[in-house]
Amino acid sequence: MTDKNLTAILYKQGDIRLEEKEIPEPGPGQVQLCMQDVGICGSDVHYWQHGAIGDFIVKAPMVLGHEAAGVVSKLGEGVTSLKVGDRVAIEPGVPCRCCSYCKKGRYNLCLDMKFCATPPIDGNLARYYVHDADFCFKLPDHVSTEEGALLEPLSVGVHACNRGGITLGSKVLICGAGPIGLVNLLTAKACGAAQVCITDLDEKRLEMAKAMGADFPLKVTSKDPKEMAGKIEECFGEKPEVTIECSGAPPSVKTAIFATRSGGCVVLVGMGPAEVSLPIIDAAVREVDIRGIFRYVNCYPTALNMIASGRVNVKPLITHRFNLEQTMDAFNTTLRGEGIKVMIKCGRQ
Ligand code: NAD
Ligand code: ZN
Repeated sequence: MTDKNLTAILYKQGDIRLEEKEIPEPGPGQVQLCMQDVGICGSDVHYWQHGAIGDFIVKAPMVLGHEAAGVVSKLGEGVTSLKVGDRVAIEPGVPCRCCSYCKKGRYNLCLDMKFCATPPIDGNLARYYVHDADFCFKLPDHVSTEEGALLEPLSVGVHACNRGGITLGSKVLICGAGPIGLVNLLTAKACGAAQVCITDLDEKRLEMAKAMGADFPLKVTSKDPKEMAGKIEECFGEKPEVTIECSGAPPSVKTAIFATRSGGCVVLVGMGPAEVSLPIIDAAVREVDIRGIFRYVNCYPTALNMIASGRVNVKPLITHRFNLEQTMDAFNTTLRGEGIKVMIKCGRQ
């Protein structure tokens, strides 16, 4: 087998194959990237296990991977912002740039978004990949490509904390201590949050959260959301102003509403069932705002500055490393729920 462009392709539910593809050539405004690090996201595993997320259905073979960083190996016509050899983080969603959402700067809501590894768009879990140059962010020498790949989940934290209005002195509840809960913890602390309580069912995840700066790691021991809200209030001595819900579990979304202070805000990051019954009157009469988030918008530069300045350290999130040839081991490790972030090294070994 000649090693041209080894690529991890999801053919259909339960069927990931490693295949040699042609090395893609960059078009105008694009760069060719020699891929370095690609983190596995829950959505990659979900497409593999179920073949779909909501209305996004894998109907044709699709390259996986979207939490990624690489080295520029070729410039397309007209690219002046980058040069060959630059190490870059890849913002995986390229919008149309022309619609009213794009023009208002809310390009994450663009209806014509092309997002890596969201069907039918190919991702970047491969040796080589091309991407629009203006969605590639040059990494300073002291920021690794692993950290570059982690800009993707970190940007979700930046967007969620922005939408929640977290600021100096905020008391913050984060529900769920998976990778997304943890990047929200790091971001909330970097925003100046005074205290963060983080919940989970899993002790190991709470231990990790504690090591990463959570003031009150709290195990979910009751199925009654009001009772859990009471325990959260006991931690802070009052209700938190902002809650970032990062589990998607319906009981946790209910807890998020009951636990939040009147006039505060619940940010819905976690995505569980499409329809959930909620204590909506409690939210209404206490003026608890419920805000959604979708991925991130204009957050890569902020996330990169946070890492480059040393203000946040995302490195402890990485618990496993595999090379591209070991893609199935990497996916099985994530499926078993081991560790936090599994990273695939895409360079030739
Ligand atoms: P994950 O599954 O690794 O983490 C979820 C955590 O929630 C787990 O540790 C789990 O034990 C915990 N949990 C389950 N039930 C709970 C409960 N009742 N109370 C408290 N914790 C509970 O997933 P992740 O990668 O961290 O992502 C979290 C969620 O964020 C997912 O639903 C994902 O789809 C969503 N997400 C949304 C966006 C967006 O743009 N809105 C972006 C990325 C991820
Ligand atoms: Zn658009």
